[in-house]
Amino acid sequence: MQWVEARMQRLRGEFTEDRAVDAGGWLLPCKLSPVTPFLAELLMIDMQGRVAVVFGMANKRSIAWAIAQKLKAAGATLAITYQNERLAQEAKDLVEALPGAQAFQCDVSNDIEINQLFEHLKNRYGKLDTLVHSVAYAPADDMKNDFIFTTREGFRIAHDVSVYSLIAVARAASPLMTEGGSIITLTYYGAEKVVPRYNVMGVAKAALEASVRYLAADLGPQKIRVNAISAGPIKTLAARGISGLGDMLKAHAERAPLKRNVDPAEVGDVALYLASDLSTAITGETIYVDCGYNIMGF
Ligand code: NAD
Repeated sequence: MQWVEARMQRLRGEFTEDRAVDAGGWLLPCKLSPVTPFLAELLMIDMQGRVAVVFGMANKRSIAWAIAQKLKAAGATLAITYQNERLAQEAKDLVEALPGAQAFQCDVSNDIEINQLFEHLKNRYGKLDTLVHSVAYAPADDMKNDFIFTTREGFRIAHDVSVYSLIAVARAASPLMTEGGSIITLTYYGAEKVVPRYNVMGVAKAALEASVRYLAADLGPQKIRVNAISAGPIKTLAARGISGLGDMLKAHAERAPLKRNVDPAEVGDVALYLASDLSTAITGETIYVDCGYNIMGF
């Protein structure tokens, strides 16, 4: 029970009621007393001593940011990556708000940058427990025109950035996951059903979900799990590239059993669960965080 006492001490020292709420609204739904934040936190997932790398930080709306905040609140040590110089300042400013987290640049379509990043991670942290791949891209024209006009280059880029990158980072990460690990990627329902204007990205997400299963089979013997979260539509930078996003959000909220859209923090909660020891027998799965939208036939 030494870890319980250590955690109690940390929480007594660091947690005020406000900060506990900021940390993701995880308090138990009971009236707060000065001691409830400790108890509530103790019942939660503990990621202390775990190292996580999160790919795909563009701004505060990014799903990567929502996931990073949940992992951090659970005690994980975080490395967070952004794509390029253009996104560097905003990403670095956000990352600085998470004590101990460090920002790294990595374009996942570039093998040299991937190798350099993992060399840095090896030197800095020595090991890795969690990898979150929250990255996707397809050229604007290929998302705007009818699917039948998808260009060869658009198809290639969409699959390179949104699918192959998962294979590349999983391969680079696995030697660092010496105690097993969890790899998580983000997908969308357009992988299975036709979603107007999702186009080549839907085909790429189908390939991504298949890649999750093949990677899970390859990496299972090393106790490395690989799963996808299929999130409902959320207004982010990438989602704004899909024309008719407003209609999509409206229809989703109307038709989903829970009659609302998904909050990025809810995606963060499921990512934390998949990163943690609460999901040690789950691999190769696509888990829906979509307010139930996918179960509806009409
Ligand atoms: P976002 O724009 O905040 O994140 C996408 C990230 O991909 C950005 O940080 C961008 O810089 C990064 N990226 C693109 N090309 C890259 C490259 N070559 N190298 C490195 N990084 C690159 O949008 P988001 O909605 O948070 O998207 C994150 C993931 O969630 C994506 O896989 C997306 O398809 C998926 N997703 C989003 C929704 C949604 O409605 N927003 C729903 C389901 C799944």
